[in-house]
Amino acid sequence: MAIYDLIVIGGGAAGLTSAISAREAGIENILVIEREDNLGGVLNQCIHNGFGDENTTGPEYADKLKNKAMNMKISYKVNTTVIDVDNKMNVTAVNESDGILEVSAKAIIFAVGCREKTNSGIYFHKSHCCGIFSALTAQKFINIEGYMPGNNVVILGSEDIALILARRMTIEGAKVKAVIEKGTKCIGSKKNETECLADFNIPFFTKHVITKIKSNGRIEGVYVASLNGDNKIIKETEKLIECDTLILALGFVPENELMIKANVSVSRVSGSPYVDENLKTNVDGIFACGNVIHQHDYVKSVYDEAYKAGKNAARFILQA
Ligand SMILES: Cc1cc2nc3c(=O)[nH]c(=O)nc-3n(C[C@H](O)[C@H](O)[C@H](O)COP(=O)(O)OP(=O)(O)OC[C@H]3O[C@@H](n4cnc5c(N)ncnc54)[C@H](O)[C@@H]3O)c2cc1C
Repeated sequence: MAIYDLIVIGGGAAGLTSAISAREAGIENILVIEREDNLGGVLNQCIHNGFGDENTTGPEYADKLKNKAMNMKISYKVNTTVIDVDNKMNVTAVNESDGILEVSAKAIIFAVGCREKTNSGIYFHKSHCCGIFSALTAQKFINIEGYMPGNNVVILGSEDIALILARRMTIEGAKVKAVIEKGTKCIGSKKNETECLADFNIPFFTKHVITKIKSNGRIEGVYVASLNGDNKIIKETEKLIECDTLILALGFVPENELMIKANVSVSRVSGSPYVDENLKTNVDGIFACGNVIHQHDYVKSVYDEAYKAGKNAARFILQA
């Protein structure tokens, strides 16, 4: 079994930054493991600007980190999914060339990010049909794979990803018929509300919910209704919006299953791992950073946190 000083699980902004920081602090023997075919994580599909500065897009920011890690000769494996970690720092992963890969380390940094909530949490009647996508899946189809998920679109949720996607799909020729938010105001930034919705005349409905889906194999429309002051559906307001695509932007949950296997304590409320001021979990030698801890709106804060995690993991390894 190959033994590393440090294994970083996840090759997004947090994983790459923490590996760079650990190398700068003197750790030579580092392995970054990433399940996608490219390092960079969610940055790769965020082609809008505003990453680190006003002019830099997500892929450009990812390239800067990747180039820096490559120049430092940090080892990495892509297309490799970690499937198990124990609290003795043994990591099991799978990929095509190695089959089952078993490695271990003196310290591990979890930089596995978060995943989207799906419609299992919101109980639509007749929701088992084609044409319903989570927001990041739709964005990946458009920005990386080059496919449009559909032509007539309704988006549920008003986080920044929902607003950015509404604009993106409009630019690509789709008709975004509505963005639906159950709260009283937009959850995303004021800037995105203006630049992504208002500037493109995309209808935005607050205090509204989807009550049911119309489908015939593929989604044909959504019924929406407004909510009263007690958040109860006002039945008389229910109306059909015809669409062939529904995008769910319902927020994120941390990818915590592997951490739980490694005996890391996670919050019962948010699912996030508990970390101290050094980004160390309750398990000696296991650190965490980035969106697995909480959803960061800005990559700069991921960078700062991951840099600290890498430095502290390095200190732990050097003192061992
Ligand atoms: C839609 C969107 C728009 C944003 N817009 C901006 C913006 O305009 N400006 C800005 O500054 N910031 C923005 N951000 C925030 C910032 O880009 C992200 O918070 C940051 O990139 C997250 O980095 P991360 O490494 O924590 O997570 P991720 O990028 O999600 O990386 C986690 C990685 O771990 C890998 N992984 C997970 N599980 C495993 C496993 N078992 N085995 C191997 N690998 C695994 C995943 O494949 C992934 O590559 C945006 C974020 C999103 C989602």
